[in-house]
Amino acid sequence: MRKLLHGLVDFRERLAPKYQDTFAQLALGQKPDVLFVGCSDSRVVPNLFASTEPGDLFVIRNVGNLVAPCDASGVNRADRSEAAAIEYAIERLGVADIVICGHSECGATLALLDDKMKLPPNLANWLQYAQVSLDRLNNTAPLDPTLSRHNQLSQANVLQQLDHLRTYPSVVKALAEKRLRLHAWYFDIASIEVETYDPELNKFVVIDRDVAAKLLKSLGEDDDKGLEEPQPAWQYAAETYRKMAAGTCCTSQNHQA
Ligand SMILES: [Zn+2]
Repeated sequence: MRKLLHGLVDFRERLAPKYQDTFAQLALGQKPDVLFVGCSDSRVVPNLFASTEPGDLFVIRNVGNLVAPCDASGVNRADRSEAAAIEYAIERLGVADIVICGHSECGATLALLDDKMKLPPNLANWLQYAQVSLDRLNNTAPLDPTLSRHNQLSQANVLQQLDHLRTYPSVVKALAEKRLRLHAWYFDIASIEVETYDPELNKFVVIDRDVAAKLLKSLGEDDDKGLEEPQPAWQYAAETYRKMAAGTCCTSQNHQA
């Protein structure tokens, strides 16, 4: 907790002043571009690896980045909170894109592969929505045979959860009206690479500069300016993370418990 509180003070004293105009604007309302569905895993930090700013992402995080499907009446009876967030993002915020992002070394998919692992009842019940991902992996060739079985399951799980997302009436309607796009991402922790599923190649590919440009072009969002430069405030945050990784940052060295 000490690290967290020192981080808050550090943010308040050094970073918050740089965000004053941003948050003054955000206080009037939000207009995020993307609904991001990710795992609760502490290593998955979308605002870091996507260099997003406050107001950019509407986020759902849960164990295993799962989307419990709707039943025949269009209701998700397993997680009303998640269903409400999906509907709110589409119907009220008008997000144009939904990203489901899995990751390597995911504890949720690891649990699915370990028959001997004793799970508490609520966790076991929740993971039923990834069981079908395991079936999917067992019945199809892995997208990347060089990965561990565990990580192969995490990739298959992302595609399965996108299928679950398509059971939501709001999603079906928005897709039909061409005001919504769905994306499958995978974050490889060790290499710090974010990959996107390429349906033509039937595999996940690293989102580097070229792939990003190709994606934007396919989405009709390419421009001649190229990738945007990071915001000054973000450069500060990025530098902080670099120092933390090197063990030279005040928040990781001087303030350790
Ligand atoms: Zn996970």
